[in-house]
Amino acid sequence: AYVYALPYEWFEQYGIRRYGFHGTSHRYVSGRCAELMGKPIGELKIISCHMGNGSSIAAIDGGKCVDTSMGFTPLVGLPMGTRCGDLDAGVIQFIMNKYGISIDEMLNKKSGVLALSDGVSSDFRDLDSAAAEGNERAQLALDMFHYWVAKVAGSYAAAMNGVDAIVFTAGVGENSKSSRKAIAEYFGYLGVAIDDEANSKRGEDIMISTPDSKVKVFVIPTNEELVIARDTRD
Ligand code: AMP
Repeated sequence: AYVYALPYEWFEQYGIRRYGFHGTSHRYVSGRCAELMGKPIGELKIISCHMGNGSSIAAIDGGKCVDTSMGFTPLVGLPMGTRCGDLDAGVIQFIMNKYGISIDEMLNKKSGVLALSDGVSSDFRDLDSAAAEGNERAQLALDMFHYWVAKVAGSYAAAMNGVDAIVFTAGVGENSKSSRKAIAEYFGYLGVAIDDEANSKRGEDIMISTPDSKVKVFVIPTNEELVIARDTRD
């Protein structure tokens, strides 16, 4: 899952491979999810959705990350606040030929939902309010973000041959009930059912799926500092 279809010596010589990021966060929330489910993490298939200014999704099978949406750098996978997410590398050559602008600046700092929303904002709170006032480009940015989270998380259910729990975390995952609801609606086919009342609650470690939902859905505030402190101690 982490090797690119590139000359193999680039991988051996320069370490060009998919690394993934947000590992401290995915580790924390997946461990906490297993505690909340009262099961050993070794027995669970979890999809962890870190949705903040930077966003990534991890497939965690038996406590081990088996796939993740960021790559050699944090640039790829989901569209983010200002990062473009997945992109045909041919676009890079095309833009360089046309404008000769800084690709790093363009793809890391001026793309993502900021660009999609026609400059409204990289902050999902601003996008939510602009969309509510009828701004179509803000709505497009939100719709696209939700679509991508569902598409990547759905592919991870396939990669793990099943999923027991989906976890939402980070700024958007912890705070935006409308984003959680919009994403969860894609997972009806997996037997995901959201309890609207639970989804409206604020607080720590809340199960937002209905009691009979086949896949459990949690909101777990991430705690990267705690993971770093524990690793430092160990
Ligand atoms: P993080 O990178 O985890 O600090 O997340 C920051 C992002 O969370 C920002 O882009 C905010 O837009 C988003 N965020 C924080 N609170 C809310 C909220 N109530 N509704 C929607 N998005 C939020």
